[in-house]
Order: sequence, then C-alpha cells, then structure tokens
Amino acid sequence: MRSVEQHQRAVAELITAHAPAATPLTDAHGLVLARDVTAPVPLPVFDNSAMDGYAVRAQDVVSATTERPVTLPVADDIPAGRTDIPTLKPGTAHRIMTGAPLPVGATAVVPVEDTDGRTDTVSIRVPAAAGRHIRHAGEDVPAGTTVLRAGQVITPAMLGLAAALGLAELTVIPRQRVLVISTGSELVPPGAPLRPGQIYESNSVMLAAAVRDAGAAVVATPTAGDDVAQFAAVLDRYAADADLIITSGGVSAGAYEVVKDTFGRSGDRGVEFVKVAMQPGMPQGIGQVAGTPIVTLPGNPVSALVSFEVFIRPALRRAMGLPDPQRPRRTATLTETLSSPRGKRQFRRGLFDPATGTVSGYGPPGSHHLRYLATANCLLDIPEDVLEVPAGTQLQIWDLGSVR
Ligand code: AMP
Ligand code: MG
Repeated sequence: MRSVEQHQRAVAELITAHAPAATPLTDAHGLVLARDVTAPVPLPVFDNSAMDGYAVRAQDVVSATTERPVTLPVADDIPAGRTDIPTLKPGTAHRIMTGAPLPVGATAVVPVEDTDGRTDTVSIRVPAAAGRHIRHAGEDVPAGTTVLRAGQVITPAMLGLAAALGLAELTVIPRQRVLVISTGSELVPPGAPLRPGQIYESNSVMLAAAVRDAGAAVVATPTAGDDVAQFAAVLDRYAADADLIITSGGVSAGAYEVVKDTFGRSGDRGVEFVKVAMQPGMPQGIGQVAGTPIVTLPGNPVSALVSFEVFIRPALRRAMGLPDPQRPRRTATLTETLSSPRGKRQFRRGLFDPATGTVSGYGPPGSHHLRYLATANCLLDIPEDVLEVPAGTQLQIWDLGSVR
C-alpha cells in the first residue's frame, strides 16, 4: 500500500500548470494574475459631474441664498454619454447629469436639489465652491499607474476595475478543465423514476461542484454504465477537451469494475491501480488516457469526495497558482474516544466548535454515510498507526470551509 503523502505527490506531479495566457474578463474570476496591470487610461477618464444638477462658474453663484437666489439662463443640456464637449459662457448654466462631461469653463456643479430644477432658466439657492461636485480626470487612477500585481487572485472588484480601464482580457494562469465521469449501471439521474435495484447518481453533481469550488472548470459530467464500450465512448467524446479526467466507481475488487476492466489491472494501458493506506478511499487509480491525466476514484460518495479533498483539490489549486492549496488545518480537542483501523490514515467527518476549540466525530465511518459529510464542517485526520484516539486528544482537523 502507498501512503496518503505518496499518492498526493503522484497526483500533484500528474497535473501540470498551463503557461500564462490572455483570458477574457468573463472567464478570469478566481484565477491568479500572471502580469502586473498598468492603467492605459485615467479614471475618471474625463472631468465629469458627480451630481444631477447645473454646471456653473462658481463666481456666478457666490451670492446665492434661499431669500435671494441667483437666476441664470440654462444654455445647454448635457446628459451622460454626450460626446461633444460644450463651452459654458459666463453668466449661464448648463443642466448636467451624473457622469456627464463637464463643459469647458464650468468650475462647479450645483445639485438639482439646491435649485428650482427648471430647464429654461434656473434659480440657484446655494453657492458652490470651485471644484464642488466635480470628479476630476485621474483622481482615482492616474494613467500609467500599476493598479494590480502579478500573483493576486482576481476578485469581482478587480474585474470591475479592469473593465473600467477598458481592458477586455487579463493575463492569468489558466483554469484547469476537468472531466467528471460517473460509472455504474445502477445509476439514474435525479428526477427520473427509480426501478428496483437502481439508485440516484450523486457523485457527478457533487464532484463537479467540488471542482468549481477548487477554482477549476468542469468540461462535462457524463455517466457510463458498467460497460467497457460505453465508458470508452465517453472518454473518446470528451477526454481531448480536458486537462484532467476524474472518474468515480468501477475500481474495487469485484467483477464488473468498468474502469479497471477498461485500463486493465496490470498498469500497461496507462493507468495504474493502487491501494492507498487510508479510509475511506483505499482503491485509487492514476495515469494518462491518450495524454490526458486521469485519476480514478472509488464510487462510494464519501470515498469519492474525501479522495477529491485529499488528492485532487490541492493539486488543482497548486497547478493554478492559487494560494493555500491545502485546506486550513488546525488542532482541536477531541470530545470522545474514537477507534481507527490499523495501518490506515482515517479521515472521519467532524463537527468543530470554534467557541470551545473542541471537535466531535460526526456519523459512522462507513463511506456510504453521505448525510453526515453533507453537514460536517471538518475532517478529522487520524494518523495511520493509531488504533484508538482517547477523548481529550489534540487532533488535527481539516477545515472544510464551513467552520464559523
Ligand atoms: P463502485 O466503486 O463502483 O463499486 O461503487 C461503490 C458504491 O458506490 C456502490 O454502492 C455504488 O452504487 C455507489 N456509487 C458508485 N458511483 C456512484 C454515483 N455516481 N452516485 C451514487 N452512488 C454511486
Ligand atoms: Mg460501480
């Protein structure tokens, strides 16, 4: 049997990073920027109004009060999007909207609330200091400023900034594309009627979400029955579009193990089947199909997702240059005594209580108990050589992201 660390290394070596590439903003969220970004234009791009109101020369409205308003003719109307820039003559006002370009000669904007709001002449009741309610070109970002740095993970606000600067693409470390194949002749898609002996297919939606949660993309989520020709047809159809293939099921010791039957048990068809000293998730496979890396996971839902957590998630995140490829780990005080199998690193579902720093096992260790994994907030990481973990032990846990 190989250790968890050995198989983690094998999977990490299998998945290789892409060279940095220009990527449309719509695909760049969550990826790592590969190059600094310098502003090609200033922000704001031009002097514009911060309010709906009237553009004026400040000196024309210095005496304005509620009792003695200043009345000016409204000589022009400037909505946002107007592309000719008018000139404001002394002693006049232009009606102007938020974001519209300031007319040449205007030095302040009087908000509509401080006026009578008319469009032929306007009575202004409040004076405006020079510069009031004007957003000046470059006051947010002078052109040429480095606004984003290589290595930063792209957030929604960063995408907004890039778009505001007129950039249609960013140079990033590309997303890994993952094909998720479920196998099993007993599987029926959720929503369809079940016949006796059939079960609902649950690994593909779960693993696909885990792939996306890791920051990678899903190519497709087909299901193949336990039939070598069917499984091979699915591979033929999708494998070339993927950077990584993940299968679930068909790798145990029984008959009708379609993944093992397809690749052969000897390892001479590109995929090697191994036993990893862990529970759940002992039967694993790893290799290449026509040049595309493949990791074959066991079919039990808990085994499949825990295997993804242990082997695939960190490797995918590393290949995308993402920070913290590993789930955050911490130590917690175990509230109960747990037993663990000899010679296997056990990953049990747990509930961590951040208020007390304690953790309890959650549900039985069996790998079909998906219910408990669904609401666990951590995995308990019990070392290989341990047969019993007494209550009070300081145990390592993996924070699954729902610990609050
Ligand atoms: P296998 O690894 O194919 O022997 O499957 C182990 C167990 O997991 C069996 O009880 C299967 O029915 C179940 N199983 C395998 N694949 C899936 C799947 N995609 N969705 C739900 N259960 C599955
Ligand atoms: Mg099966």
